[in-house]
Amino acid sequence: MGRTVGVLALQGDFEAHGRMLRSLGAQVREVRVPADLDGLDGLVIPGGESTTMTLGIEREGLAEPLRELGAAGTPVLGTCAGLIMLDRDHLGMMDLRAERNAFGRQVRSFEADLEIDGIAGGPVRAVFIRAPWVAEHGDGVEVLAAVDGHPVVVREGNLLAISFHPELTGESRIHERFLALVRDAAAA
Ligand code: GLN
Repeated sequence: MGRTVGVLALQGDFEAHGRMLRSLGAQVREVRVPADLDGLDGLVIPGGESTTMTLGIEREGLAEPLRELGAAGTPVLGTCAGLIMLDRDHLGMMDLRAERNAFGRQVRSFEADLEIDGIAGGPVRAVFIRAPWVAEHGDGVEVLAAVDGHPVVVREGNLLAISFHPELTGESRIHERFLALVRDAAAA
């Protein structure tokens, strides 16, 4: 309770993440410029469009401050385009390479019930929208869920990345898990 979580608000569905986090008792701050990162206990990088988001991050000079936030141990949750932003070819915060639009053109969007390691209470309803998957990753990256053998939920220490949109289904367990990481990091 009382933790302040930033939501990168340059582009994408940051408002839905904000609503979910507030409903779980977090204070939410929309992040648009580097100063907005000061004192955050956690950060969400939402889904959207990764090329547009990259341009916004460059324009606002956010790349280095975001990397510093992650390197300092602050929990970061990246979803969909947010997962892409965390990969080696973008912010380089996680030791993985994301494949964009990986599920192909015919199945651009679909829903699935996913068992996720560390999330109790049965499968999570997951909405995939032109979603990436993790094509390659280093040994330090734990795979918490996969679809057809392709990792879609991964964790590397304080960094959690998922391919789908947990903010769209009324499913709160992903955000609750993330807020538990935020509480643990703040207490440490
Ligand atoms: N396909 C988008 C991209 O490559 C990501 C889709 C999403 O965030 N729902 O940026």
